[in-house]
Formats: sequence, structure tokens, C-alpha cells
Amino acid sequence: MASHRLLLRGGFIRKLSAGVYSYLPLGYKVIKKVEKIIREETDAAGGQELLMPALQPAELWQETNRWEVDTLFKLKDRADRWHALGMTHEEVITDIVRHDVRSYRELPLNLYQIQTKFRDEPRPRGGVIRGREFIMLDSYTFDRNDEELDLSYRKMRAAFARSFARCGIDFLIVEAESGAIGGKDNQEFTVITPAGEDSILHCKECDYAANAERCEVADRGYEPSNEPAKPIQAVDTPGAKTVEQVTGFLKTKPENLVKTLIYVADGKPIAALVRGDRELNEAKFSRNLDIYKLEMAGPELILELTGAEVGFSGPVGLKGVRIVADYEVRSMANFVTGANKTDTHYVNVNIGRDFNVDEWADIKVASDQDPCPRCEGVLQAERGIEVGHIFKLGTKYSEAMGATFLDEDGKEKPFIMGCYGLGVSRMLAAVSEARRDDDGIIWPVSIAPFEVVILLLNPLDEAQAAAAVRIYEELQNRGIDVLLDERDERSGVKFKDADLIGIPVQVVVGRLASEGKVEMRLRWDKQNKREVALNEATDEIAAAVQAEKRKLLDEADKYTV
Ligand code: ATP
Ligand code: MG
Repeated sequence: MASHRLLLRGGFIRKLSAGVYSYLPLGYKVIKKVEKIIREETDAAGGQELLMPALQPAELWQETNRWEVDTLFKLKDRADRWHALGMTHEEVITDIVRHDVRSYRELPLNLYQIQTKFRDEPRPRGGVIRGREFIMLDSYTFDRNDEELDLSYRKMRAAFARSFARCGIDFLIVEAESGAIGGKDNQEFTVITPAGEDSILHCKECDYAANAERCEVADRGYEPSNEPAKPIQAVDTPGAKTVEQVTGFLKTKPENLVKTLIYVADGKPIAALVRGDRELNEAKFSRNLDIYKLEMAGPELILELTGAEVGFSGPVGLKGVRIVADYEVRSMANFVTGANKTDTHYVNVNIGRDFNVDEWADIKVASDQDPCPRCEGVLQAERGIEVGHIFKLGTKYSEAMGATFLDEDGKEKPFIMGCYGLGVSRMLAAVSEARRDDDGIIWPVSIAPFEVVILLLNPLDEAQAAAAVRIYEELQNRGIDVLLDERDERSGVKFKDADLIGIPVQVVVGRLASEGKVEMRLRWDKQNKREVALNEATDEIAAAVQAEKRKLLDEADKYTV
């Protein structure tokens, strides 16, 4: 990733081992500024900061059946007892609350921390985007009922949105799958950038946005085809099992093939039909068909059900298997399917004439140009980096761990929980990926390692040195975070480095200093330099910093509970 190279070259981070990084002074300054912003916003949402242990006893994770989660780092102490390194803190926080919070009078409660997390990620990549050790803000809310949880959730959603706006990034709030954390509603905050690892879909008409794992597709525009049906025909396709092999062999396109995927849903065989160039979305398939346990059928079961090897399954003549097809398949005609006979496919298959669909459903992974599920618009595919994830957990953890409170009606009830995670170290990468040019990073003034850099071009020139030091001291006195580059280096090196590390306001003190002038420019608009009188320089620079800060705060103010 370009941002990763820039962060390494600029001296923000240094790799120790796969997915494990040191934050060097410049990088750590950015991190501390991000932390300050998210602290302020979480405090304003009613959060109280605490700090929980990273070292956690195995028994706690066994209570919620999460000891076996494959990304959990585990270690043994000298007495042979197992511990985990915290990857997230639902267990620990629920343990605290079950011991210390008794009554509805103590609710709502929002507890959060900013802490190092450990996850044995299968594919650490992109540097600090996906580390095995990383910094996260994690907040947990405890409420009496669903309405109050909804309010806590909306407050934290606004706090996150405001935080990201203040960090100068464009983001979308997208519907997401909940993964290992569990729970019901959840949303991700995603920074849109082409190099992101997450696929998301976004409707520009109505603002619906969801990640590809979650995104729904409307049943619209999938009318049955009026193409005349051609005679069905079995053709030999020796050894051709994959969509590419079959369509290559038959000289047709994946769009003209229907994939038949055989699964076992709650103990019963089921076939899922999707167009050849689409993927089945197992989560949607399960959800939309009320399937509790979905497993792919093995080769033996496929042979038993279809009479053929894997790769030749099809809906024609398939007995004892419920056939579910994606909406999109309805508009297909004269297509290719497996023939339930090894090394054979059918061509010119048609629905109704050759087989019947038991149920139409939204089961494919959504893709670009699919109909929006919320309005008449179409979805657009984009790529992004997830920087935050918020969940309504409900009673998943409080029930598993017996965390209850005494409600006003005298009844003992489980806490209704929410949890909210924001990737602090990932922000280094996400912001620099989204805000950069060929010369380097373009930090927003709010989280830049320094707000202003003074490039003293010739430190040996007395007028220049005096002017630079004067501005430097005046800015410091005004509380502006300023860096003075008085190295014995060529001007070109100073300009290059300033651009690379991306400090937003650049002040050039060079030959003009003898005439009582300096030059000022903004990192994202370098052509636009401005001469400023030395006497007015501090005011001008401070005003530019303030104006940039104001813009970011105005952006944040668009988000309310
Ligand atoms: P992902 O899908 O990217 O693995 P997740 O859904 O597992 O993320 P959460 O458990 O919800 O993430 O964590 C909250 C936030 O912490 C994420 O939105 C992300 O910003 C950050 N995060 C998660 N895993 C990592 C990691 N391995 N390295 C750096 N940041 C991470
Ligand atoms: Mg993850």
C-alpha cells in the first residue's frame, strides 16, 4: 500500500515482526492526537475512561465460549495456567459490571478504554492496517432496555462520526455482518479509498451503504427473459468443473451459466443457484431462508444426491433437494448447468420447462449496478478501509456471564449491551492512504505530527536564522505545534521531507528574510505560495491553522445523535 511505504519512508513507524510495529516519534504524535479527539468525543457521549488488563484468564473466555476463537493469542504462566492476550474486552468489562453494578439507578453506563489489542490475524497486511498488536478504542454501554440501548448506540455512532470528521477523512457508515463479536445491529465506519481491503456498496440516491458481506439486493428488474427457448442438450465437458473451465470449453460467458451449490441446511440438502459470475453470500442465504446451521455438502453426499462428481451438479432432474435461486437467475434463458452426470453439462436450460425453482431469494454477494434495496437507485461498488465498528450486543454477553441488575419493577434482568471499537493505529494508515499525493502524506491540521513547519533554508544566514527563530517562538507561545527545520541540508531536501511527512502549513524562511518577508503555503496547495511580512507572519500562520481547525469542526457538527 502506498500509505505504508510513505509511513515507513517518513519515519512514522518501524516494523519489528509480521504485524508488529513501533510507533516512532512522528507516528506517535499522530496517534496521541487521534486519541485526544476520540477521548473528547467519547467523553461528550457520556463515556468514562478506564483501563483493563491485556492479560486475561482463560476461564473468562470459556464462560462465553470464545476461548477457541482462532485469532486469540494464548499463553501459559509458570503454574501452567492458561491466559489470553485481550483481542477485545467484552468478557472483562462484563465481569467488572456484574460485580460492581447492581441497580437500574446506575444506568446508563458507558465505559471505555484506549489500549493495545492482540490478535493472531491470519493475514497481517498493509502495515498498521492489520496488525497483530494494535491500538484500539473500545467502549461498552450498559442499559436497562432496548430503547435506552438505542440511544446509547446513537450517541456513540455520532461520537465516532464526529471523531472521523475531525480527523479529516470522508467515510461512510455501512451495514455490516457481526463476525466473532456477535449481536444484532451493527455498522462499520469505512474510509473510501481504492486500495482498501473491504468491498462496499453504496446507493447515491438514498445513502444506503453496506459492506459486500451484508449488502441486500432488491428483486427489481429481474423479469423472465422473452428470448425463445432453444432445445436443451447434454454436452460432454470432460474434466471441466469450474465455471472458467466449463465456459472456456463451451466458448460461452460465465453470465450464461447457472452455478448449483449443494449445501446441507439444518440437516436437509438444499441447492443454491446463482449466475456463473456471482458468488453465493452464505450469511444472506442463511438469514433469508431462516437456516440456523449451513454446511457445504461433501463430495460423497453430492455423489449420492446428484449421481455425479463435484462440479457437475445442476437443477435439472435433481430429486429430494430444495432448489433456491437468486432473483437474478429469473431473468436468464438458454443457460448452462451441470447435468448431474460426471463430465457432462446441459446447454439451453430454461426455468419452468426443464426444472422448477422452489424459492426465489436474495442470496448472492451484491455487486456494482445491482438494484438498491431501499429505493429505486442502483448500487455502486467501492473499496474502503474499516476504521470503526459499532454493535448492539443485546444480552449475548450479560446472559452468558450472569450479569444482571435489579430493575425498577424489582426484577433481576440482564444488562442490554453495546460495544464500539475504533482502530486508533489503523487510523495512521487509513488517513495517510486517503490523503496523499505523489510527494507524500497530506495530514489534516487536527492530527498532523506538527501543525506548522518552518523551513529555515540557510541557517548560517543571520537574518534568516533570526526570522525563523522569532516565528518559531511566537508560534510556540500561542500553543501552536511547530517544527523548525534548521538542519544543515540543501533546501531541496528540506522541501522534500516537509512534503513527505505532510505537515499542513509550511513557512519558508529564505532570501526574502533580508527584506523582512517570509513565504507561506499549504501542503495541499503548494503552487499557491504567499509572501507575508515578518511582522504579520505569526498572525497569518495562526489564522491559517485556526481556519483549518474550524473547517474540520464544522464538518463534525453535521453529525448529531
Ligand atoms: P476487520 O474486519 O478489519 O478484521 P473487525 O471487524 O475484526 O475488523 P473489530 O473487532 O470490530 O474489527 O475492531 C474494531 C476496530 O479495530 C476495527 O474497525 C478496526 O478499525 C480496528 N482493528 C481490528 N482489527 C485490527 C487489526 N488487526 N489491526 C489494526 N486495527 C484493527
Ligand atoms: Mg477482524
